[in-house]
Amino acid sequence: MEDLLEKRLKTEEIVKKSVELLPGGVNSPARSFPDVDLLPLIVQEGKGDAIFDVDGRKMIDYCMSWGVLILGHAKKSMVDAATKAIQKGSSFGIHTQIETQIAEKVCALVPAIEKVRFVNSGTEATSTAIRLARGYTSRNMIVKFNGNYHGHVDSLLVKAGSGVMNINEEATSKGIPKDSVKDTLCLEYNDIEGVKELFSRTEYEGKIAAVIFEPVSGNMGVIPADPEFLKVLREETEKAGALLIADEVITGFRVALGGASDYFGIKPDLITLGKIIGGGFPVAAIGGKREIMDCLAPTGEVYQAGTLSGNPVAMSAGFQTLSEISEPGFYENLKAKTDILTKPIQEKLKGTPHSLVQVGSMFSLFFNVKNPKTRHDLDQMDLDLFKKFFAYLFKNGVYIPPSAFETWFVSSAHTEEHLTYTRDVILSFFGNSD
Ligand code: PLP
Repeated sequence: MEDLLEKRLKTEEIVKKSVELLPGGVNSPARSFPDVDLLPLIVQEGKGDAIFDVDGRKMIDYCMSWGVLILGHAKKSMVDAATKAIQKGSSFGIHTQIETQIAEKVCALVPAIEKVRFVNSGTEATSTAIRLARGYTSRNMIVKFNGNYHGHVDSLLVKAGSGVMNINEEATSKGIPKDSVKDTLCLEYNDIEGVKELFSRTEYEGKIAAVIFEPVSGNMGVIPADPEFLKVLREETEKAGALLIADEVITGFRVALGGASDYFGIKPDLITLGKIIGGGFPVAAIGGKREIMDCLAPTGEVYQAGTLSGNPVAMSAGFQTLSEISEPGFYENLKAKTDILTKPIQEKLKGTPHSLVQVGSMFSLFFNVKNPKTRHDLDQMDLDLFKKFFAYLFKNGVYIPPSAFETWFVSSAHTEEHLTYTRDVILSFFGNSD
């Protein structure tokens, strides 16, 4: 195969111009490849499981728009659904029937959702969920977990402190006033004792509005929650009168049709959804118990609104996606495809310091880390080795998320040929002498 690190002339030209015009040359930081020593990708088009860059290079894609594209790039049925919708008008700012139809689908598929509100991004969904929890409980404190990411909401962009529990005075980003994070408590993921301890403290009695968590963490690489941890989260929040918010922006419609909460058998009070739900368009949602959801305006006094919320083109693409993933056997097939790639690698990594953790069609490779449970377990991650790995795959026509702490996604469009090719490239990186 042609060396993909060479002759990226058009890419170079566009990157040079982009950095003059956009901060970092991009509209979302990870796209500038800050964690790998390579010129970023400038994509031209996608088809099925592959993307093509502006220099005409084809790459098999395991980022899939960060988990959005469960059906792959530019599937004909998706293109048709969006095209049909846009021909009737791209935006009205008035309710359309498709919004009711997709709401009906979401409520039928996700057991914990009785009512739903559609928004435009995961960040909007989590920030609304937090406001809703605070409005419903008339409390302010929020508990989150180290290494879980919930978008760039001020109160959730909190650096975790050490020890069992911390009130974090320092946020992860500049520009966030201390007051915005003073009510955010941060615990280690999967730390059952930490959760119990926090809820046993009299100083927090009647003060905690909600616990927000990723049921499978996808933002520090794939780290699933222990079933016992989930059980304790549900029990402790219920006892304390706090809401449990499952942030399923990644896991919703990814881990299973009913999302990770359904897969693990827990019933959160609120769920946030994103990515897959919009079929490649900017859609996210908050859903949950009717009584809580009705606190949102106009029925309730928790304000939330959006000019483009429920956009008919986006809703049509989302509806089409949800229809296709509801086909019998969809998730079994997706898992079987993923296994073609992952199982031989897991086998190969036995007896090495590395590991591959998989939940359904999402997985991560951890360099110099064995089956982590917390963010802290990733301290020994070999970032230099990841950079070499990324460059090796890139050079061989395989694109993975450009960070050691991210999740790879397989779509229904991935072909067996591409999966086995990728598997062989990875095995050769780890020295396939067998
Ligand atoms: N929640 C989770 C679990 C996420 O992974 C993300 C983004 O990756 C978000 C929220 C924020 O979503 P968005 O980037 O659409 O704002």
